[in-house]
Amino acid sequence: MDSDRFRTALLDERARIEGAIEYLHRENPGSLEDETEEMIGNSDNHLGDSAAGTLDREIDYTLEGHSEQVLAQIDSALGRIDAGSFGTCTSCGRAIAEERLEARPWASLCIECQRSSERP
Ligand SMILES: [Zn+2]
Repeated sequence: MDSDRFRTALLDERARIEGAIEYLHRENPGSLEDETEEMIGNSDNHLGDSAAGTLDREIDYTLEGHSEQVLAQIDSALGRIDAGSFGTCTSCGRAIAEERLEARPWASLCIECQRSSERP
């Protein structure tokens, strides 16, 4: 297993996600709570426009939440590279298919375990 190649891919992806999170913060410096207060305060405003704005904001926050989840997975994958256990399923201990790692180098489960975790 050429883990150095995956380490580079993980570090690249980590930098990309951090850049995306930073971008979201620049685009939306206020919190979701501020937005809600604004909407209540300006109840004369066209409701459709306000609702659309809030929806966009919620999508951004969902994206950010997801990005932070992936960041945590990337960090734990980098830890597994250091520990020498990278590419091994953390659930069943079998090797994770290399093409799966190509697509998602932060994957900690083999495809079989991933499928069974998504279908409880
Ligand atoms: Zn497994």
